[in-house]
Amino acid sequence: MGKNIQDELLELVTQIKAHVRYQKDLGIDTLLSSREAPLVPDLAAIRQELGECTRCRLHQGRQRIVFGEGDPRSTLVFVGEAPGREEDLQGRPFVGKAGELLTRIIEAIDLTRDQVYIANIIKCRPPENRNPLPDEIATCLPFLQKQLAAIKPKIICALGTFAAQTLLATEERISLLRGRFYPYQGALLMPTYHPAFLLRNSQYKRDVWEDMKKIREEYLKG
Ligand code: SF4
Repeated sequence: MGKNIQDELLELVTQIKAHVRYQKDLGIDTLLSSREAPLVPDLAAIRQELGECTRCRLHQGRQRIVFGEGDPRSTLVFVGEAPGREEDLQGRPFVGKAGELLTRIIEAIDLTRDQVYIANIIKCRPPENRNPLPDEIATCLPFLQKQLAAIKPKIICALGTFAAQTLLATEERISLLRGRFYPYQGALLMPTYHPAFLLRNSQYKRDVWEDMKKIREEYLKG
């Protein structure tokens, strides 16, 4: 006859105690829930898998890979097109003038950059900031998709034509796409104008503000 339920429970408790001791030996003194545990390691694992990537030709001209940054458990993720000159030098997304504007947009909905996650479709700067080519997108995009799957945001804000068209697999103009949510990988995706476009066309700031208000409303629903 097999073990009775009491023996099985005792064995389970012994195993849990041994596991907790092992975690403490590793310097981990908080038990993580099954939702919490895999998130940060997942992003780290994706970064590790990406490595010093040479999967497409864009690696030839880059200074640094721009993987993405922010809260790995964020409800809200912003996705831009590709790194520019400043981003390439610093290895961080949205740090030039357009980045400063994005920071102000985030703050306008009472959040900080640390509370959201920011990434791009493409992780290396295209030469002369040209548009990424289809094979470059096809090679790089799966890493962003894995990042989104790890973060599990509730809302994704696609910044600009390129990010919106790529994620939604459409050729529709951003002026027609923006202003409403689309389902994307279990999240709600809001396309809006890119901050760099706003720097040149300030008359569209009102539209972006309308889009951000909708994002804020959805964000507050929790
Ligand atoms: S753009 Fe993406 S796929 Fe191409 S080299 Fe950079 S990280 Fe790799």
